[in-house]
Amino acid sequence: MDRLSSHRATKDVVEKHGFKFSKSLGQNFLIDDNVIDKILRGARLSEGDYIIEVGPGIGTLTREMGKVAQKVVAIEIDKTLIPILQGETLKDFDNIEVINQDILKVNVQELVKEKLNGGPVKLVANLPYYITTPIVMKFLEEDIPVTDIVVMVQKEVADRMNAVPGTKDYGALSVAVQYYCDTEIVAKAPRHMFIPQPNVDSTVIGLHVREEIKYPVDNEEIFFKTVKAAFGQRRKTLLNALGGLGFLSKDEIKEVLSAANIDEKRRGETLSIEEFATLSNKVNEKVP
Ligand code: SAM
Repeated sequence: MDRLSSHRATKDVVEKHGFKFSKSLGQNFLIDDNVIDKILRGARLSEGDYIIEVGPGIGTLTREMGKVAQKVVAIEIDKTLIPILQGETLKDFDNIEVINQDILKVNVQELVKEKLNGGPVKLVANLPYYITTPIVMKFLEEDIPVTDIVVMVQKEVADRMNAVPGTKDYGALSVAVQYYCDTEIVAKAPRHMFIPQPNVDSTVIGLHVREEIKYPVDNEEIFFKTVKAAFGQRRKTLLNALGGLGFLSKDEIKEVLSAANIDEKRRGETLSIEEFATLSNKVNEKVP
């Protein structure tokens, strides 16, 4: 079965159905074979896999996954794409199910139970950029049995997810993602690889969820609050920034930093995840 990932094939489908691209839904369709192959490899796609795709568009990536995986559930918000997917590009696949919904409103846990054999699942997608972070964090935080997240995102977002301490891209998103996952840059996708051409470049990032949390913390809520406070005012030392937690006096901040063996003059962006874990455990002991 032919691929849809050429400029011509995509244009043909779009024109035949009089489809109108929506900028606000982040509709930029991928037209590069090489990147599709890299996405499949990055996801280590194999026969027994259960896949969730967010935003299949006209089904370019969906079809290639359907050729290999056990089952693909593709969630698409735009109802004008549904007849194209169901009536044409995916009609020969009985292992692909298209659902017309907003991913942020889907109960993914239920979906996995009902339609994907209870998991484990992989999230593989060229994401709509206006909601990249909420989608990724939904999959990481909502207790969904996901092993791998391989997604096309804006280059700058991939850089932040993949950043190491002490670099300009390292921030709360790097810590949030790397708390759960090992990260890997899977492919670069400059803007000319899409129609219509977006005004940003993209990167495919692989987030491989670890079986166990590497640096367990006593209280995840306090961990993420500590991270947020530490990065809240990037130029401030930890001694000042942790005031943003709202329940520690200056003396108590000095105390927790010393107990965690962290110099009070350091800034949040220099702390490793292990140091954040230790620090948040000390902060947790002071929660009123
Ligand atoms: N997968 C296709 C490709 O690679 O060519 C299309 C990717 S395009 C960047 C993003 C897709 O996500 C569009 O089809 C868009 O309609 C869809 N989308 C946008 N917001 C969504 C949402 N909240 N829930 C589900 N799909 C959404």
